[in-house]
Amino acid sequence: MKILLASRNKDKLREIREKTASLDVDILSPDDFPDLPDVEEDGDTLEANAIKKALALSKFVNLPTLADDTGLEVDALNGAPGLYSARYAGPDATYLDNVDKLLREMQDVPEGKRSACFRCVLAYVIKEEIHLFEGKVQGIIITEARGISGFGYDPVFYIPEENKTFAEMPLERKNKISHRGLAVDAWVKYIEQLMQ
Ligand code: IMP
Repeated sequence: MKILLASRNKDKLREIREKTASLDVDILSPDDFPDLPDVEEDGDTLEANAIKKALALSKFVNLPTLADDTGLEVDALNGAPGLYSARYAGPDATYLDNVDKLLREMQDVPEGKRSACFRCVLAYVIKEEIHLFEGKVQGIIITEARGISGFGYDPVFYIPEENKTFAEMPLERKNKISHRGLAVDAWVKYIEQLMQ
């Protein structure tokens, strides 16, 4: 069975591949399809964006397709950056630009009010049928980056139960407890049931 994993983000691809390594499924990436169009993420929700990407690309490659849309929702910022997590500091923002902006926006937010949630939505499209899977994890936005693993907002996303940021954990640990890891677990369970 072949599936397109519809993300151009190498970090997301690495995490999802690590989680699905034992599945008897051939997971292809956009690099395997040189003419794959870009899909604009202009939906109002993570769900809408994930569905839009998965539907469009599944039609294009004629294969079951899995797409991920993820947002960091910070309580003190009324849910921002949320849907705009990738372009928080502007259209061409780097991970570092986004983290810097987040820390600036939160510089006056006291300890105890710095809670946040990562939410990952996976849309899986097979024969035009849409299936959604979600994973969430609660954490705290710390005031200075810690750790060198992971990507994006990982160095400032601290998990009290682990006494670590995501960037201080090995990939396997992050993948066990993270928003994306939990969403992929739900998807894998679904796929395994279908393959039985
Ligand atoms: P999108 O899902 O492609 O719209 O990207 C959302 C943005 O959120 C990414 O560009 C990263 O900056 C950030 N992001 C997504 N997943 C993670 C994660 O697992 N850790 C840290 N940052 C993430």
